[in-house]
Amino acid sequence: MLEVKNLHVYYGGIHALKGIDLRVAEGQIVTLIGANGAGKSTTLRSIAGLVRPRQGSIVFQGTELTTLPTYKVIQLGIGVAPEGRKVFGNLTVLENLELGAYNRPPQEFQADLEWVFSLFPRLEERRKQLAGTLSGGEQQMLALGRALMSRPKLVLLDEPSLGLAPLVVEEVFETITTINQQGATVLLVEQNAMAALHVAHYAYVLETGRITLEGTGRDLLQDERVRKAYLGE
Ligand code: ATP
Repeated sequence: MLEVKNLHVYYGGIHALKGIDLRVAEGQIVTLIGANGAGKSTTLRSIAGLVRPRQGSIVFQGTELTTLPTYKVIQLGIGVAPEGRKVFGNLTVLENLELGAYNRPPQEFQADLEWVFSLFPRLEERRKQLAGTLSGGEQQMLALGRALMSRPKLVLLDEPSLGLAPLVVEEVFETITTINQQGATVLLVEQNAMAALHVAHYAYVLETGRITLEGTGRDLLQDERVRKAYLGE
């Protein structure tokens, strides 16, 4: 479904991605793990058209993405849930979700909204609340819900568990599995390697701009190097 080849990204003189190759097969959850600054967010931002790679290709269902603006990438069926709490704090929950649906047929809005509310009942209870007053976990759910309102075929998730209490983290990962079972393919960037590898069909380890290991989630959970470097053993 998505194929990234030999991707190089620079921020000025910083060579942030040094030839990344990865694939996401339709129906899978694929995760990208690695330390701070390894280039995980940069990889997602390149796919979303938010940074321009200097070299390499990103092909989604036959379309080259590297020259497309973000709104076109979203139109092709890619939903982006950004890192942290980047919801519109001075808008309500419902208004945030409406923004996520801007490229969808208006007659389907209600059904999409009901779907998102079925995944996140808490958002329905708080539909009129200002997003900036939600808890961290609720804001994360809203970021995810807003991305889902575009009914994406592929969802890009940037550290959905960042800063959340363990129970909420569990809830977020359960929701990711549910979304996937309901048909969305997921590319998940995570520092919480343990949780990410548990839900992922396939995983890549990124170190200073390069993929250094890859395999099924199960294989990497058992890999000595991964256990030492990322699972705190
Ligand atoms: P984290 O988990 O800490 O978010 P990451 O793996 O997502 O890390 P990136 O955010 O992709 O890493 O950053 C990769 C490298 O590029 C880092 O060295 C970072 O300092 C650098 N970088 C990222 N964004 C910029 C920017 N806008 N300008 C300059 N350098 C940047």
